[in-house]
Amino acid sequence: MDTAETGTLIIGAGEAGLGIAVALRNAGYTAPVTISGSEADAPYQRPPLSKEFLAGEMDEENLLLRANNFYQDKEIRLLTNAHIEDIVLDDNAAGGTATTSSGTEIRFDRLALATGASPRRLPVPGADLDGVCYLRDIPDARRLRGLLPEARRVVVVGGGYIGLEAAAVARTRGLEVTVVETFERLLQRVAAPPISEFFRAAHEKRGARVLLGASVTALQGSAGSVTGVELSDGTVLPADLVIIGIGVEPRIELAQKLGLDCGRGIIVDDAARTSNPAIVAAGDCTMQPHPLYPGELICLESVQNAADQAKVAAASLLDGPRPERAVPWFWSNQADIRLQIAGLSAGFDDYVIRGEPGSEQFTVLYYRGGRLIAADAVNSPHDFMAVKRALGKGATIDPADAANVGVQLKTLIRET
Ligand SMILES: Cc1cc2nc3c(=O)[nH]c(=O)nc-3n(C[C@H](O)[C@H](O)[C@H](O)COP(=O)(O)OP(=O)(O)OC[C@H]3O[C@@H](n4cnc5c(N)ncnc54)[C@H](O)[C@@H]3O)c2cc1C
Repeated sequence: MDTAETGTLIIGAGEAGLGIAVALRNAGYTAPVTISGSEADAPYQRPPLSKEFLAGEMDEENLLLRANNFYQDKEIRLLTNAHIEDIVLDDNAAGGTATTSSGTEIRFDRLALATGASPRRLPVPGADLDGVCYLRDIPDARRLRGLLPEARRVVVVGGGYIGLEAAAVARTRGLEVTVVETFERLLQRVAAPPISEFFRAAHEKRGARVLLGASVTALQGSAGSVTGVELSDGTVLPADLVIIGIGVEPRIELAQKLGLDCGRGIIVDDAARTSNPAIVAAGDCTMQPHPLYPGELICLESVQNAADQAKVAAASLLDGPRPERAVPWFWSNQADIRLQIAGLSAGFDDYVIRGEPGSEQFTVLYYRGGRLIAADAVNSPHDFMAVKRALGKGATIDPADAANVGVQLKTLIRET
């Protein structure tokens, strides 16, 4: 292993950036490893920001992915408040020099991009009023957590996972909550209709109001603070707190400066290599091919993808054997409902509902061409595990048997 090198620079101190550093060390890489991150905090978990942390059930120190001494022990140089502004590659197109916004130069001979994503901004007048919040990082979550005790009427703009999780926390605290969603169903981009319908009913049952097919045209305010949300039909929803969760934009600016191919995200192959094969990228900043969607590139915004793609990226940096492709999985906690997703349901042509949605414990299994491709398990961890296992082995579960709740799903897994 090379020791006399300048080493590897990883840009982005999130789940993917840390994952690359750890995988390099685990593979025996002994040259310097630097992670440079824009934020003030060491790498931390984002999922609790809209769940346990927002609900006041978790402290900031428990968000950290690794204790501070981990970086020393693994000889990983972690630079916080170190936003990389510019990169110049050497003539060999692999090594080069990166410059932070404070002017510090960092030499590297291997480069990984793990720059994540930023929340999409709501492009309407009034979006900068006090009391309007986004939820991506610790400062956002800290601020929102501080505002909740003073709030009475909350409008959540966007019925995706983050918006719905925040709505559930606000509702659990007894606040008046309205969710405004532009599409005709909740979770339209990420879940199938039965799950969308289930969550609409579940949030309404818990006292939230859900407005579908409604778009926000302006946020109204008084003395600099938000007072209402104006919809395209002229309705004004009174609000003293507005939470915006309308998706993310992958951060691709540095990749574009480097001339790498980008679409919505940085385009990588199944080895996490960018269009410059010496440079890898992983996590929310990427667009990647997937065996389930031949000819397409997909963006996967999940902890599982960031962690698994990081291992693939590290293997490519070292020209080592590529780890096996992992089954995509995801989770979301909304009040006392735990949704676990295995696989990717987009493109399904059939589905089976196992259990009764009204009982809030059921699973939807998705099929394409008769083959199992994914499942959404609501308060059903055993079904989730069974489907994840089946997909991991390339096996299936016969749709004719799947609805029978009297039979454990794991006993129905069939190798094909
Ligand atoms: C509130 C919330 C709840 C979520 N809940 C779930 C969940 O329940 N389940 C799930 O699977 N996923 C969830 N996610 C998504 C998951 O957290 C992300 O998919 C994952 O964190 C992506 O990791 P990443 O390292 O690719 O990107 P990020 O975590 O975005 O990290 C990228 C880092 O790079 C830094 N950076 C960017 N540009 C530069 C630069 N030029 N120089 C230096 N640093 C830079 C950024 O500041 C950032 O810290 C949630 C996300 C949020 C925000």
